[in-house]
Amino acid sequence: MHTHTTVEPLIDDEYTGEPPAKRLLAYLQDQRERGAKIVGTYCGYAPAELIRALGLVRASLCAFSNATIEAAEEVLPANLCPLVKSSYGFIMKDTCPFFAISDAVIGETTCDGKKKMFELIADRKPMHVMDLPQLPDEPEAIDDWAAAIRKVRRFLESVFGLTTRDDRIEAAIRETNAKSRRMNEIFEYAALNPPVIGWPELYDALFLAQGASGDDMAPILDGVLKKLETRKRDGYVYGPKGAPRVMVTGCPLGGDSLKVLHLIEEAGGVVVALDACSGMKPYANMIEEDTGDPVRAMAARYLKIPCSCMTPNDRRLTEMDRLIEKFKPGAVVDVVLQACHSYSIESIKVGKHVQGTHGLPFLKIVTDYSQSDVGQIRTRVEALLEMCRQ
Ligand code: SF4
Ligand code: SF4
Repeated sequence: MHTHTTVEPLIDDEYTGEPPAKRLLAYLQDQRERGAKIVGTYCGYAPAELIRALGLVRASLCAFSNATIEAAEEVLPANLCPLVKSSYGFIMKDTCPFFAISDAVIGETTCDGKKKMFELIADRKPMHVMDLPQLPDEPEAIDDWAAAIRKVRRFLESVFGLTTRDDRIEAAIRETNAKSRRMNEIFEYAALNPPVIGWPELYDALFLAQGASGDDMAPILDGVLKKLETRKRDGYVYGPKGAPRVMVTGCPLGGDSLKVLHLIEEAGGVVVALDACSGMKPYANMIEEDTGDPVRAMAARYLKIPCSCMTPNDRRLTEMDRLIEKFKPGAVVDVVLQACHSYSIESIKVGKHVQGTHGLPFLKIVTDYSQSDVGQIRTRVEALLEMCRQ
């Protein structure tokens, strides 16, 4: 039996129990009422510290709902990643509150689906697409990405009539690092065996943290940490006794694709590590402080994000080693959104690494935002967890 239903929620406010998007939207609306301008972004590579240094607020526009897929498929090919279809469907139907409150949009040349979708929405808001180098180990990559950040800096300055000072970017870097440290402290409670935090609460904090500033998050995260410490002291355990620990890696997850995480729990497992842009990835590396060139320091850190759009993406495996070492999962599940070729192909390497180097059971799940494959995923997850129990 899961014991988490009886304890005090980690973030205790009027949105507790609601989808985390509501809390984030309320935060953004509040920022807007205070006069802040909003910049919509789609990706972990979006230069958050630059946005913050300009006094702007970031809203993530990646959508996770099946509800808009049908409308999107009237225009887009059906065999396209559901994240792209869902995001575009919301914009098409004019029903994305995050897009609606965005005053400008930043995209990056990551996967083809996103890149080409940006063209379709470019006339709706002031938009800038950053040219992301995709060979991160080449010596010129950092110069190119720093140049791309300087270019988007000029775009934002001109759209909003602002100027950024390097010392403000430096301050934003310190703020990001402080947020990352707090997030990593929270992750420690998932690393405990047995864990004292479950993925739904982790996900709540992660969802809010990707939009809210470090300063605004600080008291919330400190409150979460205090409660976690109390839980630990009181001997609270999340999940059933001896539950197999699962690490989930792959494409960003949210909304309807969270079905996979629910299914892992329903099958008796506990998800202890979320290795995705919607999970722990954004907090894996600190940005170097006081280098004298904060834009370059940002560029260096962002290029370390192990996204499958990069080639080679060896950092993904190195990062998995670190996570496996830390969270000690008994199995790894790689969730690939349908038609996401880069994550799908990379899954071959990931699976070999997990099984070969770490000797762990591995399951690749290719899915979309519909509920049609729930039965099939359940059977496969149950079989995986059975292997952990043997
Ligand atoms: S998985 Fe890659 S493309 Fe998607 S948000 Fe993360 S960095 Fe961006
Ligand atoms: S999941 Fe894959 S195809 Fe979909 S937006 Fe992300 S990188 Fe692109």
